[in-house]
Amino acid sequence: MARHDMSDLSDASDRSDPPSPRLWGASRSDRAGIRAVIFDLDGVIYRGRRLLPHAVETVEWARNRGLAVRFLTNNSTITRADYSRHLGAFGIPTPPEHFMTSAYATALYLKSRGNAGDRVLVVGEGGLRDEIAAMGFEVLTAPPVDGVRYVAVGMDRAFCYDMLCAAMHAILDGAEFIASNRDATYPVENGLVPGGGTIVAAIETAVGFSPALIGKPTTRMLDLLLSEIGCAPEQALIVGDRLDTDIKLGRDAGVRAALVLTGISSAEEAQAAPEDMRPDWVLETLAELPPLLGAG
Ligand SMILES: [Mg+2]
Repeated sequence: MARHDMSDLSDASDRSDPPSPRLWGASRSDRAGIRAVIFDLDGVIYRGRRLLPHAVETVEWARNRGLAVRFLTNNSTITRADYSRHLGAFGIPTPPEHFMTSAYATALYLKSRGNAGDRVLVVGEGGLRDEIAAMGFEVLTAPPVDGVRYVAVGMDRAFCYDMLCAAMHAILDGAEFIASNRDATYPVENGLVPGGGTIVAAIETAVGFSPALIGKPTTRMLDLLLSEIGCAPEQALIVGDRLDTDIKLGRDAGVRAALVLTGISSAEEAQAAPEDMRPDWVLETLAELPPLLGAG
């Protein structure tokens, strides 16, 4: 796949064929000094139960090269231990502590604000429930609920009107409203399904104000990862499939960002994106990452 510098873009825009993936404004020296690669999961490593092409080889290549490899996801439905098993089964063995999920980050946020035993109403699935319970909180998952100090929300495929009522009343009674993520959609094998953001929006509509947001595009999860690795933002590269979360996060955090076209966002959308969602690089697949980082 041919790559072009930013200076080529004006030529490309005159052509009628669709834009090809390209390097935007990046010289070779811009790519020097990268010590850590942070991969998004859905739409980058796999899509539903389907492993995406070149994921295994690219992760292996990065590790063999001595780069710190971590995984960062807004998905709150499973735990870090589940992710470790899941990626292991795909042939990418990874310890649980190499994953940062919006469920785990939500649990860390609660730990920083609350006390063990505080009651948390969880509108979400097992990942969010288990990560919060593991921090010592009392997790409530169904009405009736009282004495709730926090309402933590993520994707919940069993969401129902009774839980909407319970969340609304707990928040209006003074519980803090926390969203693990606001993703509008979630990629599965055959397309998209409604994401955690749709459930957050239902509760937000009922209470009339917005939650504290934990997941991408806030920099909270990435900051935690970088500090754990001991890596400055300019030494890291984030690889994601969504302009409004992964790439915006990279731009906001001062981390270089590559959009890979195997998930949500397209090359056309990347080209039309506002400055704060504009990737440094666009890759057709993960096979383009090693050459980007200087593999011979
Ligand atoms: Mg994704």
